[in-house]
Amino acid sequence: MSISSEIRDELGLLPIKPLCCRRAYLYGLIYCAEVEGTAVTAIFPVAKDASYYPHKQAVGLIHTLFSREASVTHETRGAHRYARVSFDYKAAAKNLRAMMNLPEEEAECETLTRFMGFKCEHCAAHFLRGLFIARGTVNDPAKSYHLEIKLPTDGRVEPVRILLAESGFELGFTSRNGQTGLFCKSGSNIQELLAYMGATTSLFNFYNAEIERSIRNDENRATNCVTENINRAVRTGAKHFTAIEYLEEHNLLAALPEELQFTARLRMNNPDITLAELAELHFPPITKSGLHHRLEKIMAFYEKNLNKSL
Ligand SMILES: [Zn+2]
Repeated sequence: MSISSEIRDELGLLPIKPLCCRRAYLYGLIYCAEVEGTAVTAIFPVAKDASYYPHKQAVGLIHTLFSREASVTHETRGAHRYARVSFDYKAAAKNLRAMMNLPEEEAECETLTRFMGFKCEHCAAHFLRGLFIARGTVNDPAKSYHLEIKLPTDGRVEPVRILLAESGFELGFTSRNGQTGLFCKSGSNIQELLAYMGATTSLFNFYNAEIERSIRNDENRATNCVTENINRAVRTGAKHFTAIEYLEEHNLLAALPEELQFTARLRMNNPDITLAELAELHFPPITKSGLHHRLEKIMAFYEKNLNKSL
């Protein structure tokens, strides 16, 4: 099951007592509905092996809160299944249409609060919960941080963005393929938003995935670091090997002071070890910086002779 449907399952099964909050929740579920005359049609995702189906819940709430009977039809788009819930209710159609046709200057939180009938301080969170169930997705945090709420491209976007901002969540705005979305790419903000909507179990799964991801990143970083050190040692060794081999082939090694000849031979015999290891092979051992100086002298001697011969 995807993380989005896990979150949906959890959010949908939370109990709500106050009537105002239940209404706000239902309006969240149907906020993005199509409206024609007095007919309202909302579309809900239908996940495989879900333990909760938002369209069934919407039908129940429409019955108890709006005293209307809704009909359900199913459809498939690509790999996804959806349920269309249709009902006829003048008041709901009017409220939704008012939001759809909202001029930009009236896109305030109060407008949303008024048309969606928020009464108490918890109504907004329940509205967002319903909206997220119908229109929200979250990527697997082990792969990337991305939460998105898809909205129709009309007056309904801006009041939601403002409502979220006033609740402490600044979401980005995206528009593509005739769809508008509000999104969040910060792991900590996604967690706070999930907590705000009441998805505490999903939040723990999110934490765990995040911990796994950070452990994996640390491991990769450590592996990269070791690999890079080995590569560097091999590259340096190969450079020395070429130089010393050249000096030997041209009988130039004997022209070097004895301690440099000794270092050069040790290097030839051990081209792929680190400088620290090579320093320890000397007898008596020399320091790494002492070795560095010796190798620099050898390399300078090599380059001088190489240029001469060119
Ligand atoms: Zn309320």
